[in-house]
Amino acid sequence: MNDIKTIAEKDRATVLHPFTQLKDFATGKIGDPTIVTGGKGIRIHDAQGHSYIDGFAGLYCVNIGYGRTEVAEAIARQAYNLAYYHTYAAHTTEELANLSDRLVRTAPGKPSKVFYGLSGSDANETQAKLVWYYNNLRGQPKKKKIISRDRGYHGCSVISGSMTGMSFYHDHMNLPFPGILHTGAPHHYWGAEPGEAEESFSRRRAAELEQLIVREGPETVGAFIAEPVLGTGGITPPPDGYWHEIQTVLRRYDVLLIADEVICGFGRTGADFGCTLYGMEPDLVTVAKGLTSGYVPLSAAIVGERVYAVMEEAADRVGAFSHGYTYSGHPIAAAAANAVLDIVEKERLSDRARTVGLHFLKRLKERFAQLEIVGEVRGVGLLGAVEFVADRQTKRRFDANLKVGARISKAARDRGLIARAMPHGDILGFAPPLVVSESEIDEIVEIAYRATKHVMDELVKESAI
Ligand SMILES: *Cc1c(COP(=O)(O)O)cnc(C)c1O
Repeated sequence: MNDIKTIAEKDRATVLHPFTQLKDFATGKIGDPTIVTGGKGIRIHDAQGHSYIDGFAGLYCVNIGYGRTEVAEAIARQAYNLAYYHTYAAHTTEELANLSDRLVRTAPGKPSKVFYGLSGSDANETQAKLVWYYNNLRGQPKKKKIISRDRGYHGCSVISGSMTGMSFYHDHMNLPFPGILHTGAPHHYWGAEPGEAEESFSRRRAAELEQLIVREGPETVGAFIAEPVLGTGGITPPPDGYWHEIQTVLRRYDVLLIADEVICGFGRTGADFGCTLYGMEPDLVTVAKGLTSGYVPLSAAIVGERVYAVMEEAADRVGAFSHGYTYSGHPIAAAAANAVLDIVEKERLSDRARTVGLHFLKRLKERFAQLEIVGEVRGVGLLGAVEFVADRQTKRRFDANLKVGARISKAARDRGLIARAMPHGDILGFAPPLVVSESEIDEIVEIAYRATKHVMDELVKESAI
């Protein structure tokens, strides 16, 4: 390996890093890039000699943990045997057929077929095209608008980035595109009126969705896309009754439900899918992240019977399904996914996420709920978040310039824990690999607590609290 300085210099000179302040990076103000060199279980280490507990599983994707040689071997086996062939014009591989059979048997809703992409973003892009295609084919060419939610996250490409409901992802980028609309976030803590119960709040959100559909004209609204649990928007489990109320509205106006299971899928919430946990019956399902645990890029748009039937029925009329990527259904990715899902099944990682997740939420609440700067502690399965506020009584936010969330995340990192400062508000998010143990959970919570106390001391000195 080159020396650390050379690698850092090359990187600084040539890599355009996502979600990085470009000038601060270029001038060295935020220091050298972290050169990640290895990982095992829930830990990663870097070339500078630090070791971290990865409390965020990369970007909520390394569910089986780092360094699983079973997956490396499956990848190598497929690479030696046949590294690539395409899936156009009815070509396939054994790994791909097996993976698709497995997804159709286990995914929520009434799955019929699986279309493969490389990222959550492109899979949601595919979902939009499927909604348009479906409605064109069934003679409803106006039924094209797609509704997502404030604080939803669905990716960064043109349509998926428009579905994402945070201005941080839109500003200066010409997003959102017309035809992609947003409705209220399902977050009781911030959205509820004083004294409003979760069920009434859910009914109000559903009523707002209904008003939006009616205002736009139901004949123009094709689909609603949502994460079962709001992820990047703040790790927010839905309020009681939410999915029941929302689905009632969608059915009333013949609006398809796209479940974005990119984070929730494959055990993260303590159930196999977020849809299973909340009784959702989606028409289209997006999976990525956990599908390969991040070992190689792979995503899927899982097409339900209702949509697929229209597509097949129209085929004599419209010809071939004209959508696909060079790498759709890549055999190495399929082999990796099968090896990952074997581990998820064998080690019962959904069950693990449920039981260890209960312990996690309990410990988070014990440690954080009483702190004077904590507004809410929330989570489900192995997803957790602590939201910080300047005043608990009035729910006053901290001045954004104080960067409280980012500072706590940094203080945790200085103490050997990666926990993510979420982009919307002062939120510290957790999504450790699903193989995390209860004692490792205790360690994560303890480090996060010490980091928070450290920043609280600083805030006292700055007279910010
Ligand atoms: C990460 C994410 C995406 C986008 O996936 P990429 O692979 O980053 O394009 C889409 N939806 C959800 C819910 C996600 O968390």
